[in-house]
Amino acid sequence: MKDLLRTTAERAARYLAGLKDRGVAPTPEALANLGRLEEALPERPADPSAVIALLDDIGSPATIASAGGRFFGFVVGGSLPATVAASSLAAAWDQNAGIVALSPIAARLEQVAMRWLVDVLGLPPASGVGFVTCATQANFSGLAAARHALLERRGWNVETRGLFGAPPITVVVGDEVHVSVLKALTLVGLGRERVIRVPVDGQGRMRADALPPLDDNTLVCLQAGNVNTGAFDPADRIIPQARSAGAWVHVDGAFGLWAAAAPARAHLVNGYAGADSWAIDAHKWLNVPYDSGMVVVKDPRHLYAAMTVNAPYLVIGEAREPDHYTPEFSRRARGIEVWAALRSLGRQGLADLIERTCRHATRFADGLREAGYEILNDVVINQVLVSFGDGELTRRVIAGVQADGTCWAGGTVWQGRTAMRISVSSWATTEDDVERSMAAMLRVASEVLATA
Ligand SMILES: *Cc1c(COP(=O)(O)O)cnc(C)c1O
Repeated sequence: MKDLLRTTAERAARYLAGLKDRGVAPTPEALANLGRLEEALPERPADPSAVIALLDDIGSPATIASAGGRFFGFVVGGSLPATVAASSLAAAWDQNAGIVALSPIAARLEQVAMRWLVDVLGLPPASGVGFVTCATQANFSGLAAARHALLERRGWNVETRGLFGAPPITVVVGDEVHVSVLKALTLVGLGRERVIRVPVDGQGRMRADALPPLDDNTLVCLQAGNVNTGAFDPADRIIPQARSAGAWVHVDGAFGLWAAAAPARAHLVNGYAGADSWAIDAHKWLNVPYDSGMVVVKDPRHLYAAMTVNAPYLVIGEAREPDHYTPEFSRRARGIEVWAALRSLGRQGLADLIERTCRHATRFADGLREAGYEILNDVVINQVLVSFGDGELTRRVIAGVQADGTCWAGGTVWQGRTAMRISVSSWATTEDDVERSMAAMLRVASEVLATA
């Protein structure tokens, strides 16, 4: 075991060091080599070190280098050194984080991490927190808590009776709602098409002047950080209205809520602390390994009511039982990496990570604009949308950038216009990475335009 772990750690370190010099996308040869994995199930046991060697030889070259500093696709963070290391130690621990009796350490680290999380994001300190796999699951959990609270007021216990015959809940979303909220609405039985969609402005922000009438039977879903533009719904205008009407406000803040941690960006999240529930990713901007997200609910009783179950064999003590706050029962102790990230960064390190990545995004926007290309969004955080001309040209530049390999950025369509989307979410991105990547983008763009 000892040799195996040591050589594996060496392989992992070699892999990470090699990211500097390799293309971000795997080579066609590396992809073709994946065919070597298509063997019959072995009849006999194999030496674990041979298994790891096979994994490294074929697997490592076939990865997308999103752990490096030049991956700007989707909204994807890297993994901070302390989190990668904590994750390997935690794999050795093999803790089931579902209940305290199975892992006192995992339960304690979650408790510390949740205290730090609500502190650094400025959320109500007595909130309940569940450590889930992703923002989609966090949205699901927050909406389950909302569903419980709204129906309880109407004298309907949705956990015991289900939704058949229940009083209807009005659901309000912005027209730029993230698909994961629609998926979560599907899963909690509120339906993704019976929602009221509020028109948005040119940045994708919900228009506060276009809200429908709200009441205490309404669930309003806000977004902190649009996945294209990075824009924030005007919470400081919408939440007070919703609160006085008695509506429940849920916030999809997958990456955007982290702006609260950087003093120069914190104004963007003004008003968000007044919501009832929040969905936050850790594997994006906090830079922990997959998979990791958190649901935060101001009144923990509603999350508890939505998630708790009991059985005689479960030992339930005085302490917070983690599985009472998540859809999962048995699960990986993913609070460990959240703790490790916050413990290693500290308040200042986190502020610097958020601010630095935003600055890199601004540098991309400035450089591309100076070269004559159009930036389609106000770059308020870490997201940049750039057009290289018409849709066809922009698509060719995106394909060219991806094939070039210096960096990787994806495409999107923003309010009818095709754009390349640059998201700077990784702790690992340096100024040099930005300059190298921008040079590659500009080189590819002028090649494409020269042949247009
Ligand atoms: C990424 C994202 C999600 C979904 O997050 P997952 O972790 O992939 O489930 C939801 N909302 C927004 C705004 C996002 O950016």
